[in-house]
Amino acid sequence: MKADLVVRDITELHTMDAGEGPTGRLTDAAVAFSGSEVVYVGPTAGAPSAARTLDGTGCIGLPGLVDCHTHALFAGSRADEFERRLAGVPYSEILEAGGGILSTVAATRAADDDTLHSSLHARLTGFLANGVTTVEVKTGYALSTEHERRCLDILGGDWPTRVVRTFLGAHTVPAEWRPDRAGYVAHLVEEMLPAVAEHADCIDVYCDRGAFTLADARRILEAGIALGLTGRIHAEQVEHTGSAALAAQLGCASADHLERLDAAGIAALGKSDTVGVLLPGARLYLKDPAPPARALIEAGARLAVATDFNPGSSPVRDLLSCATLACIEMGLTVDEALLGITRHAGLALARPRLGWLGSGSVADLALFRPPPGEPASAAVLVQYMGGHRAEAVVRDGALVV
Ligand SMILES: [Zn+2]
Repeated sequence: MKADLVVRDITELHTMDAGEGPTGRLTDAAVAFSGSEVVYVGPTAGAPSAARTLDGTGCIGLPGLVDCHTHALFAGSRADEFERRLAGVPYSEILEAGGGILSTVAATRAADDDTLHSSLHARLTGFLANGVTTVEVKTGYALSTEHERRCLDILGGDWPTRVVRTFLGAHTVPAEWRPDRAGYVAHLVEEMLPAVAEHADCIDVYCDRGAFTLADARRILEAGIALGLTGRIHAEQVEHTGSAALAAQLGCASADHLERLDAAGIAALGKSDTVGVLLPGARLYLKDPAPPARALIEAGARLAVATDFNPGSSPVRDLLSCATLACIEMGLTVDEALLGITRHAGLALARPRLGWLGSGSVADLALFRPPPGEPASAAVLVQYMGGHRAEAVVRDGALVV
């Protein structure tokens, strides 16, 4: 067997599959790629020869990281809003004056394609440099058939990372529909969704106070799922709505946020394949209570961790820092946090080939050097918050960083 690329002598590799412990830990390990396939994972001594080799001595290897929840396609800035909120102005007052998410909608609609394209490209280049090879990006700052379709067309291009496209027409009720939420939901289901579904991978609904009701969410998700989209939901963030249990009932791939999840919601997610997605950046910025992560794990639920990167409630681009926060503020172990930004994040996107390394996985690998003076252990990547640039990144079998 001859491979195209072998990364050898990786001091500590976590395959998230075969190996020691829940993260599949191997030492002095190699990963070999042929084309866009993984053809070997195991001791360096047994690795095939290759046209190109990379030395992983002193490094920590992880599958390409997966950020399963972002709102990375937007224009405009909300730095002024950040300062106003620090000064005590409530978000509801900012929203009523046309600020908050509505200002991002206005700026995104007004931006030309080049502006949207170049800002997204720069953001995704930053994610890749941090070892993230797959980024889920939601629409939802356009909120009309024409503009949502434009955003999905942009997301369908070639990007530094793999992009999973989520249609979030039900993010908020746009200004022109504000008095008529029910009318907007009917418009979304009957006109927008059929026009955009073939250009998206997932459908998401923001089910919460001030956004969409549980009945709206059911109607929109059922319509999207019937058109072949993977269901996701923003659930139980501001207020308890029963939306996590709805996600489990409809077979959604994920229920995200969960700060106000109740015992029935915990039990429903525990019994289902719906992944609970923790968003510690939003929790931090909004000063929300922590979601019941330990109770979810004990009930049998699988948890992912994501940035929720957006210009308002979570201007956070660093997925490994979110793993750190999920440990400190939500009680995850290091292994659980690592699973949350790899394999479980893939499952939250209904992409079971993402976030692990082995026969049948995607061919993505991120190599990190530990902070100075520290051992090559994945635990230090989570212990030290921020500043971890990947030493090398392989995506689809090709060395891209
Ligand atoms: Zn979100």
